[in-house]
Amino acid sequence: MQTTADTLTPAEFADPTPTTARDQGSWRDFAVCKGQLQLFFAKNAERPQARARREAKAKALCDSCPVAEPCRSYARDNREYGYWAGESEEVRHLLGYTVTAPIGLRSRAVRVQLEELDAQSA
Ligand code: SF4
Repeated sequence: MQTTADTLTPAEFADPTPTTARDQGSWRDFAVCKGQLQLFFAKNAERPQARARREAKAKALCDSCPVAEPCRSYARDNREYGYWAGESEEVRHLLGYTVTAPIGLRSRAVRVQLEELDAQSA
């Protein structure tokens, strides 16, 4: 399995520990979002309309994903940033699963990955 950023699911991006080393790792292998990182994390200064379009595309993938339930549980339990299993961090916040890490730090790390992907595809 490749370990470059363009092959990582949101779950693998947030937790780059090799699957075999994780207790709940097996569900990640069936994620339909592999290679779609840009749909699940916002770019810098993303406008609300662009966010709505991006999240609608992400939701379409999540709606067809066979591992949405463990993905949603993982995101809630780990207070993740980004769009996971049909839920943004705002939705999880309203449900009581507030992001605990400073969003600025987490989103900055994601933006660096997205910029690297953009540079690779240019
Ligand atoms: S539910 Fe969505 S975010 Fe979670 S693994 Fe599936 S496609 Fe990816």
